[in-house]
Amino acid sequence: MLSVSQLGKSYGDQQALQDVSFELAPGERVALLGANGSGKTTTINSICRLLEWQQGTICFEQQDITKSTDYMRHIGAVLGGCRNVNWRLTASQNAEYFARLHGTSKKQALKTITKLEEQLGLAQYAKREVGKLSTGNKQKAALLSALAHQPKLLLLDEPTLGLDSQTVDELQNIIIEQSNRLNQGFLITSHDMAFIEKICTRVIVLDKGKVIYSGDITALKEQLYHFEMRLTLSQPDNARLNGHLEELWPNHAQLSSEDDQIIVQYDSPEQAFATVNWLAQQAIIPLDLSINPLSVETAYRTLLSREVNP
Ligand code: ATP
Repeated sequence: MLSVSQLGKSYGDQQALQDVSFELAPGERVALLGANGSGKTTTINSICRLLEWQQGTICFEQQDITKSTDYMRHIGAVLGGCRNVNWRLTASQNAEYFARLHGTSKKQALKTITKLEEQLGLAQYAKREVGKLSTGNKQKAALLSALAHQPKLLLLDEPTLGLDSQTVDELQNIIIEQSNRLNQGFLITSHDMAFIEKICTRVIVLDKGKVIYSGDITALKEQLYHFEMRLTLSQPDNARLNGHLEELWPNHAQLSSEDDQIIVQYDSPEQAFATVNWLAQQAIIPLDLSINPLSVETAYRTLLSREVNP
């Protein structure tokens, strides 16, 4: 459905995208990941034709999108700053306007909008001008407009920004349900890895404007370690822990940290249990400890750190 081929974009002498290529099929939910400034928004804005690019082509259903504006009827977008909605209209008016513009009947539009307003927790605010809503409710209004006209392809740039956790859960359900029922494709950027892991099966990772990984989430994790232990020590002593890891599995376990938590990645759970034994022998009692299959967050961070320190 969507084919991005060797996309290159510079802002002056700042190269934002270089040779970016990927495809997205109907019904697929794909995450576009990367650190700040890696080129995610530039990619999304190019697909929306909000900016011009210098190299490459973008096709929607085999048609070059620079040759016709017809494809616009088939895409919906949530962009940073809720720019896809008119702030002088209410959330409901925006959603109905866009749904009708895209050819949805009034009856169908109102039915879909009412249901989505309930699901997003927007019903009580839906009759208020978008400009007068709180940040989170503005984001819900932007999501409502994009989701209500049920386009073939949805581009969501940081859709969870400002949302409370209950709405994030609902949004996950809505995206999965709509993509399965209507075969809608979703391209989603987010820094919320838990959200991405729940809804996307494929990830594209950008680093400094280049694709450094494109594939399914399971394969990304398999390229790396398979298990992670997270532990918090009252008196962190990473040097001793590192020594233990080096002694048992030279080059086979990796240690990093996140806030107060130490994260150790392992090939197998047995290795993690050996560390638990070692901690007990050293009379080190962690404040908390968990052993889980590798999260996409850790896999993705490891991938980015490998790009920096190959
Ligand atoms: P974030 O996660 O912070 O939203 P991003 O991955 O979406 O980042 P982009 O906004 O696409 O990154 O930016 C990619 C690069 O292009 C960055 O180096 C950024 O500084 C640069 N850039 C983006 N917009 C402009 C602009 N209007 N003028 C000049 N440079 C820009």
